[in-house]
Amino acid sequence: MPVFGGPTKNGVGSGRPASTTTSGRPKKDPHDFADNLKIKSCPSQRQTQHALKDIKMEEPAAKRAHIVGMENDVATPQQPRMRLCIATCNRADYSKLAPIMLAAKADEDIDLSVIVLGCHLIDDYGSTYRYIEQDGIDIDSRLHTIVRGEDEAAMVESIGLAMVKLPDVLLRLEPHVLIVHGDRFDALSLAASAALMNIRIVHVEGGEISGTIDDMIRHSITKLAHYHVCCTERAHSRLLAMCEDNNAILLAGCTSYDKLLNTDTTNCTAVLEKWLPKDVQPHDYLVALQHPVTTNISKSLKMFGLMLDALLEFGKKVIVLFPNIDAGSKEMTRIMRQKGIEHHPSFKTAKHIPFDEFLILVANAGCMIGNSSAGIREAGAFGTPVINLGSRQTGRETGENVLHCREADTTEKIKQALEIQYQKQYPPSYIYGDGHAIPRIMKFLKSLDITGETQKQFVFPPMRPSHHRDIDHILERQSALAVDLGGTQLRVALIENHGDILVQTSNPTPKTNEERMSKLLEMLMNLAQKAISLNCRVLGVGISTGGRVDPRGGVVKHSTKALEGWSEVDLRTPISSMLHLPVWVDNDGNCAALGVRAFGCGKGVEDFVTIATGTGIGGGIVLGGRLIHGTDFCAAELGHTKVSLEGPPCQCGGTGCVEAYSSGLALQKEAQRLHEEGNLLTEGGHLENNEKITAKHLVEAARLGNQKAQDIMDRGAKAVASVVVNLLHILNPSRVVLCGVLAPAYIETVRNIVKKEALPSAAHAEIIASTLKEPALLGAASLVLEYATRRIY
Ligand code: UDP
Repeated sequence: MPVFGGPTKNGVGSGRPASTTTSGRPKKDPHDFADNLKIKSCPSQRQTQHALKDIKMEEPAAKRAHIVGMENDVATPQQPRMRLCIATCNRADYSKLAPIMLAAKADEDIDLSVIVLGCHLIDDYGSTYRYIEQDGIDIDSRLHTIVRGEDEAAMVESIGLAMVKLPDVLLRLEPHVLIVHGDRFDALSLAASAALMNIRIVHVEGGEISGTIDDMIRHSITKLAHYHVCCTERAHSRLLAMCEDNNAILLAGCTSYDKLLNTDTTNCTAVLEKWLPKDVQPHDYLVALQHPVTTNISKSLKMFGLMLDALLEFGKKVIVLFPNIDAGSKEMTRIMRQKGIEHHPSFKTAKHIPFDEFLILVANAGCMIGNSSAGIREAGAFGTPVINLGSRQTGRETGENVLHCREADTTEKIKQALEIQYQKQYPPSYIYGDGHAIPRIMKFLKSLDITGETQKQFVFPPMRPSHHRDIDHILERQSALAVDLGGTQLRVALIENHGDILVQTSNPTPKTNEERMSKLLEMLMNLAQKAISLNCRVLGVGISTGGRVDPRGGVVKHSTKALEGWSEVDLRTPISSMLHLPVWVDNDGNCAALGVRAFGCGKGVEDFVTIATGTGIGGGIVLGGRLIHGTDFCAAELGHTKVSLEGPPCQCGGTGCVEAYSSGLALQKEAQRLHEEGNLLTEGGHLENNEKITAKHLVEAARLGNQKAQDIMDRGAKAVASVVVNLLHILNPSRVVLCGVLAPAYIETVRNIVKKEALPSAAHAEIIASTLKEPALLGAASLVLEYATRRIY
């Protein structure tokens, strides 16, 4: 029975004419890709500057690409039929490549050829080429490329042997494109051969991180590959960080999820009977799959022995898979034999289990243990509990289901992990895919230019022209570009590591989203250029904006009244693409809190709240050192805390919010009213003809003794004090920080009211007016500086 079901002829994305640019990069179909696949364009800084003034946020990606340097784009010439070659080396890559092979085979516009090499052809590793044949895939070339020995030198010789054999095959097949998967040593020989022979390489699953030699191999293949099909946002970001061209990256998701999310795993009796000892029940057995760690073989052998001992003592039924061919695997097999695993009544062993049956076993397991990528990728989608041993998957993104046991140096430790994880229930996680990778990949493949130049372009971030003056380089300052996008002003600053604002520019906030985005990009590009001349190394862009923000996605979810239409705006993608820098985004109230934490009186304070006064009123809550965002990113919207039942209408549509009493806008309205009544001007005050009345006039009038103005200010302060008292009773923070222009005007009244009205045990909190000039801008910078200076990829 075939393992992978494939689409029918014409089933997936066939028949669309190829669309390319003469620069050799795929030309994006914005309506298909830009939204779903998050393809971004990454021009160089110089290109960008020329094009900036023409850019509109919602311009299709293809048009952007044209603007930023694909000027030679001409009518697409008719492309020849694509000769696509896919090479598979082992069962691990086959489970990811098979769906692509089947879709390509069914596609009339593609001539598929398949090369099989590596341990697919070795009996000790399950002769897995048979499953390829069973799937109905014609194998064009079988290459014996494994030099046995299963040690480090044998891996190197195997690469050499493959590189001796591959040129003949590639010369014969003449592929336009070769697809290579992952991080195994065989894949390196494929990529190196194809690159040297000017064959376009599409690398699947680049940008991920894990332990062992795999990382180095995977990233080396990234450098050799012309195009990348990756699985997660983070992988995508890392590819960009590795200076890969964004136009050459497709974020598709993991191909095996297309199968995995469409498999009924509940019908499992036959599979369990086949692969496990007798009378086993679903969720009452384990799957063990552990491979050698080639960078520390002796440690991984010890760990393997300890895992088997722990499983023997745990006493449950287990299917143990033999390890892959990496250096050390022979020794592992010997350990299994020494411990009598193959003949133990509670154990069964297998060299390989066909993918669809493997999925059913993983989905129904009480626990999976070892260091296979399957524990991280496939098991997550089923919520199967996993114990990940050692360093082989270090750094991979995981769901909640994975318990890491990095130093698995005693049987006891592993047994404890088994006690914790066995039969525990976890929600499924879909970090690696949504089940729609294949249609995306097929469209991407068809968009490649298969006739143009194969010269690869790397996209380097903006750089100083030269570093020959070494002392300058040493003195280079780490810094961030910070943005504060408010209802009235759009401000951008270059801020260095210690919070010094080196340059700041400001413009009125444009009215439409397109204008805002365009102006923002222009201001950022100018400042990035300036940073170079100021000897600053810009680590990223931090954005403080009004509205509810999803900081993980870098997206403004819902606008506020002050920034109309500013909803569902992805700030990260266009800015990151344009500047080739990482981008962080958060709400302005939250950013003010972060600014206070990084550079102000919140430094080192575990629990504090900020109330930011400006045109509106924002807030930020830090508890246990962490900023609180809430379920829908709506936490700390303190401006809309109700302080009266029948209060004045608020911009949010409600009534009685503190913002309706105490914000700059509320005070401005009151100042205007007093002015119209002729009650604003006081002795010593001054008003120009036609001068616009603002909150400042009210504050000034109060200062000069205008009682009516003072009453309004007191009311504003009282409303803020009510919020503070409520916060003290809800959160019991040790500090409340008022920031923004109105903080000095409110602080005394707030302190007095809190002293009287807060419960004694909550009233100890310090109420402080922040002296930070630009808390939101500084907070935006801290998003970058705090993350970027301690990040580990
Ligand atoms: N796999 C399979 N049958 C097996 C073991 C593994 O189909 O018996 C597939 C499965 O898709 C799994 C992948 O091979 O995710 C990788 O497994 P393995 O642990 O061999 O390699 P790794 O990716 O950890 O190097």
